[in-house]
Amino acid sequence: MGLFALSFAAMDSQGRPGMAEEKGLVLLLGTGNTHKAEEFYEMAPPGVRVVAAFSRESPPPGIEETGDTFFANAFLKAQAFGRALRGKRMGLLFADDSGLVVPALSGAPGVRSARYAGEEATDLKNRELLLKNMKGLSGPDRQADFVCVLVAIDISTGALRAASSGRVSGRIANGFMGEGGFGYDPLFIPDGYRASFGVMAPSEKNKISHRFRAFRQLCLGLEDAWAG
Ligand code: IMP
Repeated sequence: MGLFALSFAAMDSQGRPGMAEEKGLVLLLGTGNTHKAEEFYEMAPPGVRVVAAFSRESPPPGIEETGDTFFANAFLKAQAFGRALRGKRMGLLFADDSGLVVPALSGAPGVRSARYAGEEATDLKNRELLLKNMKGLSGPDRQADFVCVLVAIDISTGALRAASSGRVSGRIANGFMGEGGFGYDPLFIPDGYRASFGVMAPSEKNKISHRFRAFRQLCLGLEDAWAG
């Protein structure tokens, strides 16, 4: 059993971390997306502390997401954020690239999820365009996956320390369901559920989401840092 698993076993009956706290892993999170940040704070397991690398006063540098894959864009972000922090912060930084993949739309919105309806698109515009493009599709053609790729680097060298991916499968609703979450949440119904991510409590989404699955894998991949 790895240290990561051991840390879960070290929780007391109220779910409070026990000895795992002493061997904590601090991860700086590089993102300008407050929704993603809130999810990472909530899903961090005992012994892992997620700390914002940037703030409103000190925002992340703007990045052109020119990659064709989630990994390429997560790597681009991690490197750019690492460069911005070099000399100011030490330790590990991780960045997220994520999106919605609809096979019936040849994988769109995919890596362009945030910009599906144009460079300055809002979440609402992106959702409306998705519904429009899926008009007339039914059954298996409404199948979709949320995908998240995470990349962790050493801030001082830029060296890749771990990478991971997570996926949750579901289907695209015929109309908006709920107003919670962000992005495409009100349109995505995970397999095995009747409610969309926009209806679900954040704590429910964070137990099954692509981001949760990728984050769990990333922590496992960083066991050596955890032990140090
Ligand atoms: P990124 O900042 O380039 O990774 O863009 C991610 C985009 O994918 C977001 O702006 C959303 O449109 C979409 N997305 C990713 N994860 C989620 C999620 O958990 N819920 C809803 N939309 C998401």
